[in-house]
Amino acid sequence: MSRYDLLVKNGVLVLPFHGEIRADLAVSGGRIAAIGEDLGDAEEVVDAAGRAVLPGAVDAHFHLGIYRDMGLDAREETRSSLVGGATTVLSYFRTGRHYLDRTGPYREIFPEVLAAVEGRSFTDYGFHLAPMTVGQIDEIPSLVAEHGVSSFKYYMFYKGFDLATDSRDARAFTMGDEYDLGHLYLLLERIAATQEDHPELRLSLSLHCEQSELMRVFVDRVRDGGEPQNLRAYSEARPPLTERVAIAEAAVLAGHTGANVNLLHLSGADALREAVAARRRHGTDMRFEVTLHHLCLDHDALDARGGLGGKVNPPIRTAADSAHLWERVRDGQVDWVASDHACCMEEHKGDDLWPARPGFGGTALLYPVLISEGHHRRGIPLTRVAELASANPARAYNLWGRKGSLAVGFDADLAIVDMDREQRVTADLLLSAQDHCPFEGVTVRGWPETTIVGGRIAYRDGKPADTPTGAYLHRA
Ligand SMILES: [Zn+2]
Repeated sequence: MSRYDLLVKNGVLVLPFHGEIRADLAVSGGRIAAIGEDLGDAEEVVDAAGRAVLPGAVDAHFHLGIYRDMGLDAREETRSSLVGGATTVLSYFRTGRHYLDRTGPYREIFPEVLAAVEGRSFTDYGFHLAPMTVGQIDEIPSLVAEHGVSSFKYYMFYKGFDLATDSRDARAFTMGDEYDLGHLYLLLERIAATQEDHPELRLSLSLHCEQSELMRVFVDRVRDGGEPQNLRAYSEARPPLTERVAIAEAAVLAGHTGANVNLLHLSGADALREAVAARRRHGTDMRFEVTLHHLCLDHDALDARGGLGGKVNPPIRTAADSAHLWERVRDGQVDWVASDHACCMEEHKGDDLWPARPGFGGTALLYPVLISEGHHRRGIPLTRVAELASANPARAYNLWGRKGSLAVGFDADLAIVDMDREQRVTADLLLSAQDHCPFEGVTVRGWPETTIVGGRIAYRDGKPADTPTGAYLHRA
């Protein structure tokens, strides 16, 4: 009789906030059952000699179903997550254009989303929801209590101006009500009030910070300016100033209402400086996210290669911006790193900057980029890498205790990494449906060879398991 379901032997376990230890790890019933030496027998043994064993990454910024069928995206894009050792994805969903292309109450629409994803996700998954109407704001208490949705989103740039269609009325896009600072205020107020009923949780609002009235001016200027309409132009059309103003506005309202906020995908030095100053000024619980692409891509390098595959909001900035982000990742000002994965095909990028769809995939590179560029190249400790990719998003989004560390009782979600394997990134390697890759040609050192989700081997040596086994995460 075997005592355990699975035993991971001889690896170096990376424990966030603690350190690295050489120990075996045993799994029973999908959870970590023991950590130590001579743990005995198991049904299945994985030899991790010479490997680092990290807690599976929690990719906290994802867009399942934004441009494609929700179920198909769940299957193909969470498969890509496994390649890089991500075992949980937290995906954004909103009503309006794209996604399900409709509006209505979340009590009707959210069960449809859950049904579409159920049985198709290779990773465990949860959703952040964006209340686009006043009616949806009223649903916040029941979304928390009944569906375990404990994080929400507001897009500061869906106001007055729809860039894709050049419409001066963004309501065609949001299919919502007046989507302005008043809406944001109501949203923050409701989250703060609901928080009172849930002292055990951290309810939060995630913010996409770009200011649309300023964007309008700069977009017009860049369009009429005669410069090449490339990714540099896109950055100039949505300059860092628009992020700074949006961050400042959001921070005042967050401070006033007392709601917890997360500032998403801060794109460069100006945005991060503004955010750090705002956090100091308002003293509220304000956490900062940066993305892989803002850390390791710059618009000049992408423009030299050509194409619009790297179009994303907020735009890719300069190499100096990336260097600044790495410094704040290193010194702990940045709380977590995420992919902002949105599977977007080349045909939807096209060769015209303005109608090109924003976003692209990257979930498979979460650990590889942090290990290669962060640990090997910049000396960031592996424990800190595990905090950035796993522990900190788990704590921010009410998953701690199940996700984010290697500890007895936590889910057995593991990334077993060959720290020295060099890998040149190609679209094929990432097992995403996306047919191009802005990271193409980047070489990383450190690559996951086995990914374990809930005690099951979900990916090994380049191959995913046949059956997706990911489960919905009720985060309340
Ligand atoms: Zn996003």
